[in-house]
Parts: sequence; structure tokens; C-alpha cells
Amino acid sequence: ALNQNLAELQARINVSFEFFPPRTSEMEQTLWQSIDRLSELKPTFVSVTYGANSGERERTHSIIKDIKERTGLDSAPHLTCVDATPQELEAIARDYWQSGIRHIVALRGDLPPGSGKPSMFASDLVALLKKVGDFDISVAAYPEVHPEAKSAQSDLINLKKKVDAGANRAITQFFFDVESYLRFRDRCVATGIDTEIVPGILPVSNFKQLQRFATMTNVKVPNWMTQMFDGLDNDAETRKMVGASIAMDMVKILSREGVKDFHFYTLNRAELSYAICHTLGVRPEAALPGQSLVRASA
Ligand code: FAD
Repeated sequence: ALNQNLAELQARINVSFEFFPPRTSEMEQTLWQSIDRLSELKPTFVSVTYGANSGERERTHSIIKDIKERTGLDSAPHLTCVDATPQELEAIARDYWQSGIRHIVALRGDLPPGSGKPSMFASDLVALLKKVGDFDISVAAYPEVHPEAKSAQSDLINLKKKVDAGANRAITQFFFDVESYLRFRDRCVATGIDTEIVPGILPVSNFKQLQRFATMTNVKVPNWMTQMFDGLDNDAETRKMVGASIAMDMVKILSREGVKDFHFYTLNRAELSYAICHTLGVRPEAALPGQSLVRASA
């Protein structure tokens, strides 16, 4: 029965993995090792983030094409519309379309300090992309509200606008308070947002860095989590195990609440995301429990 449950779970769960463009050749090696390992799990798609400076942006374009060539996976570049003209964005989108890229994660991007109201929001980018080609489009969602939003309600209406413009799914900012995700999902349904709200799972191993990042992004780090990492500042090994266990608990609750799609912020490392997927029943085909038995008896 356990094997059957796992097989059922695996049939139900879809995962995707997010990477960022490596800055050194050593980081590039780590990235490819991670991609090779995680691609065994047959993700629905993999994505590569888009940076603020032009060198990094070029790397997103080339890495996404390399991943597609090497793995054949649905490879989705992130694209932001701050500090780019509509003409530039159209040219990038056309180039992707011609290269066989059919999925884009469409974002506004963070505003440079001191800038005024941006001329484009993510919803405008979604509309622009849809004019270039019938892309599969993912957009960002914020269970704990985007830091610049006037209110939770206006942020939700913005998400609806992105979906109405043609977005096919929303991927959430990372979170640790599962309740805030579940309430947000309910509010999306009540607002008429009918796409999947895919939880973005961040397996934490560097808690200090997380605290800084959480403050910037308006994400709540619950007290219980601070306590879990307390005393581990100089113990990376234990931090990793604690981080994995927190994420495993989260995905277990979420899957019990009917979540079928999970997006992992891998930080270019396979280990934690792979282990969490394993507990969700997402495994390479050959390692599916029960299969060796079937083969042995055949
Ligand atoms: P939008 O949906 O445009 O919303 C931005 C803010 O403006 C919100 O507060 C919204 O409520 C408000 N708003 C929207 N429309 C209006 C309007 N007409 N008038 C007034 N206010 C309005 N950043 C990167 O630079 N590169 C990446 O690769 C990247 N990947 C990401 C992936 C995910 C899954 C997530 C969740 C975020 C990612 N980000 C990335 C961060 C993202 O760019 C920032 O959070 C950015 O500040 C907002 O982007 P958005 O697409 O959500 O913007």
C-alpha cells in the first residue's frame, strides 16, 4: 500500500526548478551538475533568473538555450521590463520564439533606487509577449503582499490583471507561513483567478542571508524558524538538515491541502531540492518503489 501511495503521489505532483546565471566557471560547473541531477526528476519546466546588469542578462539568454539543447526540458527564461523599452523586449521575445523557447517568466523587476513610477508593470509585459507569440507565461504572486503594493487587495487585483492579460500560472514569492499561502490561494479563487498558484519553495541553508532577504521582500520569518536555526551560525552541516526538514514539512502540508505543483528556488544546488522532491514521491523513473519488484516477477 505504501508503494501504491507513493506511485499515486508521484503521478500527481509536478515540480519545476529555478536557477540563476553563474558568475564564475566554478559556479557554472555546479550549475550543470545540479541541472543534470534535477532533470532526472522530469520537471515540468526549469527557469533561469534575469539580473539587473547587462552581462548577466546575456548569460540568461545563452544558458536557457544551452539547457534546452542539453536536456530537452521546457526551459523558461525570466524577463523583466524595468529599464527596457518595449522595442527591446519585443526583440528579445522574438529571438526566444525563433530559438524554440515557448515559456517565459514575466516580471517587472526591482526598481533602481530613487526611480519614479515605472512606465511598465508585469501585466504590460505579459500583454506585449502575447503579441509576439503564444508563449506559456508564468508571473509572480505574493502571499504576504508585494512590498510596494498599496494594499493586499490592490496586489491581488494586479495578479488578476496579469492572468487576464494571458498569464498561465503564478509562482509565489517564497514563504514559511503555510497558512498565509493557503489564505492567499483562497483569496485568489474568490477574486476569480483561475490559474494554479504554484508555491515557491526556498530550501534554507544560510539563515543569516535569508533574514536579510526576507526583510527586503516582506516575507515573514516565523519565530519557530528563528529558534530552529538558533546556535547554528557556525554549523553549516546541521543548518542544511534543519532547512531540509522545514521544507519537507511544508511540502507535506501543502500536498495534503491539494497543491500539485511546486516550484523550487534551488540556488543552483541540487541536493536539498532533490531530497525534498524525493519525500514528495518525485523520483527518477528507475527508482520508483515497486518497479524493481515488477521487473523481478516479470
Ligand atoms: P508587478 O506585478 O508589476 O507588481 C509590482 C508592484 O506594482 C506591486 O506592488 C503591484 O501591486 C504594483 N502595481 C502593479 N500595477 C500597478 C499600477 N498600474 N499602478 C500602481 N501599482 C501597480 N526579479 C528580477 O529582477 N529577476 C528575476 O528573474 C526575478 N524572478 C522572480 C521570480 C519570482 C517567482 C518572483 C516571485 C519574483 C521574481 N523577481 C525577479 C522579483 C520581482 O521582479 C520583484 O518582486 C518586483 O519588485 C515585482 O515584480 P512583479 O513582476 O511582481 O511586478
